[in-house]
Amino acid sequence: MITEREESLKMIRETVREFSRKELGPISSRVDEDDYFPLELFRKLGSLGFLGITVPEKYGGSGLGYEAQAVVTEELGYDSASFSLSYGAHSNLVVDSIYRNGSEYIRKTFLPKLCSGEMIGSLCLTEPGSGSDALAMKTHARREGDHFILDGSKTLITNAPYADLMLVYARTGESYTAFVVLSSDKGVSKGKKFSKMGMRGSPTGEIYFDRVELPADRVLGKEGDGKEIILSGLNAERVILSFIFVGLARKALEASLRYSMERRQFGRSIAEFEMIEEKLSNMYTRYQASRLLCEKALVEIQNDRMNAIDSAASILYTAESAEYIAREALQIHGGYGYVKDAGIERLLRDAILGQIGAGTTEIRKHLVASNLVKYFRKNKSLPK
Ligand SMILES: Cc1cc2nc3c(=O)[nH]c(=O)nc-3n(C[C@H](O)[C@H](O)[C@H](O)COP(=O)(O)OP(=O)(O)OC[C@H]3O[C@@H](n4cnc5c(N)ncnc54)[C@H](O)[C@@H]3O)c2cc1C
Repeated sequence: MITEREESLKMIRETVREFSRKELGPISSRVDEDDYFPLELFRKLGSLGFLGITVPEKYGGSGLGYEAQAVVTEELGYDSASFSLSYGAHSNLVVDSIYRNGSEYIRKTFLPKLCSGEMIGSLCLTEPGSGSDALAMKTHARREGDHFILDGSKTLITNAPYADLMLVYARTGESYTAFVVLSSDKGVSKGKKFSKMGMRGSPTGEIYFDRVELPADRVLGKEGDGKEIILSGLNAERVILSFIFVGLARKALEASLRYSMERRQFGRSIAEFEMIEEKLSNMYTRYQASRLLCEKALVEIQNDRMNAIDSAASILYTAESAEYIAREALQIHGGYGYVKDAGIERLLRDAILGQIGAGTTEIRKHLVASNLVKYFRKNKSLPK
């Protein structure tokens, strides 16, 4: 019997699928070729209730939770991984974090505009000198009476060129604090937009802060809470962003099945050759294993039972698998896969970001292993 929750997720999937196949799929090559961010389409996600999907209705959201956010991320990722990345950065990294950590003033002032798409958000952690070692950041803020003065710069920031609101992490003395910064604040300027090998269309850029005066009520949480806010958001972030790559892998596998059944060589469809069968079976197995791992992790974050091992493991495996599946898809498509028209080489270029953005494969491996050792030492058993 289908539960009410499953019924609601099914309806969300149908709605986002219809939107994505009709409006995003047909322009996805242009998004990639021209490095074009379809702003109006992005704002439309707001009118569909997807931008504030984890935020209660009283702040302008639709209160549907992480499972629904994952469904939207996957379906958008199927048609355009880059659009889905911009969606994830806005709706999870910024909107969800502001809801979870913001004061009533911050929630009421900014969430309605972020949920409707009137404002675009960016999460600003990475700096020129600090990526994996994020806490080595140089950006800092110092208190002067009832306000803070923010100085520094951030780089490789998703949505930065379009961002109206930025969630900025800065040092405040010995600790870290998260601030809500507006692009209209005096002293904020945007640097260059990067031209990337993949995820083109998801705008990535630099942001500078030159003596930006911020009222004290723009602190997210409390002064000094920044590290906890970063860490508390990471589990959900990893799991939600994994679904971009679940969607991408599904697209690559479906395209490979279609092509290998149609394409005939040596008088047979290529799907009948053992070496192609091996590819298809490996692709399918890794795709299903990624999905199951991510869905397990999703239930855990939904129920607030998440551990850092499973969240890091789910994105680690899903990102590696998506790259593997996209590479095999390209091989199955032969020469046609190598030319742009088939849209397969784009999947591979986009998939590679999965092993770099939101933490690298190496850092995820370290997280899985070090936390597993700690867990095992304490419990003498594996996590469930
Ligand atoms: C398209 C894109 C979008 C992004 N969006 C955002 C965003 O919205 N907000 C944001 O704040 N950041 C964003 N980033 C930045 C991203 O989070 C960082 O690129 C990532 O965390 C890695 O940091 P780094 O690039 O400085 O690499 P580095 O940390 O310099 O790493 C370089 C290499 O060294 C390895 N390495 C580093 N430390 C270790 C270690 N201890 N053990 C083993 N190997 C190690 C890494 O795995 C990597 O292979 C984005 C990046 C890209 C490419």
